[in-house]
Amino acid sequence: MRLQKLLAQAGAGSRRACEEMIAAGRVTVDGEVVTELGVRIDPAKHVVHVDGLQFQVDDDLVYILVNKPKGVVSTMYDEDGRLNLADMVGPREERLFHVGRLDMDTEGLILLTNDGTLAHRLQHPSFGVKKTYLAEVRGPVKKDLGKNLRDGVELDDGPVRVDSFRLVDSKPGYALVEVVLHEGRKHVVRRILEAEGYPVLNLVRTQIGPLVLGDLKPGRNRRLTRGEVQQLM
Ligand code: URA
Repeated sequence: MRLQKLLAQAGAGSRRACEEMIAAGRVTVDGEVVTELGVRIDPAKHVVHVDGLQFQVDDDLVYILVNKPKGVVSTMYDEDGRLNLADMVGPREERLFHVGRLDMDTEGLILLTNDGTLAHRLQHPSFGVKKTYLAEVRGPVKKDLGKNLRDGVELDDGPVRVDSFRLVDSKPGYALVEVVLHEGRKHVVRRILEAEGYPVLNLVRTQIGPLVLGDLKPGRNRRLTRGEVQQLM
């Protein structure tokens, strides 16, 4: 395996970032600095460090961040042959499962992993992991929308309070709002905004806890960096 590929797979950064680390002389193989790109490494035999920190390919646990596009179901298999999350990452040896779900019509961040402990923690209400959504609604929105959402909205399965609310953009006939909440109930963002009189036109999940979608395009995926995995632990 090429050195930059090993580093990227081990979560040191993107392939490009790893190439830059190598060229900058930050990478050692068995204690020797390697600045040449494309050096071949046997992960079972060689020890690789970046800035003194060891990186190795961990075959056991896998963490993949996906930007789920609209129209993709949040399952790893679909009996009716609809596009699902497994299609976003292609055939893999590990048995991955998804952490939580997004509606078919919602886009955004979803984590795939074979780490059951972490998946459980991220989904369990007692850990209160915050999720951030950007919702497009027909504007303008009333001034007290944020206060109402923070105070709590009564839904048919109980009240929901958002942790924070922000008006991101507002134009005639259109508003973009950001809500952060630690609720995992089905359609919860659509339901609270609808209850306030704003049916959601478009919904994107941009963050789960410390994980940020960033500029990852819909339908694309990337491995979490080692730093991101550590932040989740
Ligand atoms: N809330 C929604 O309404 N839809 C989602 O997909 C996630 C949260």
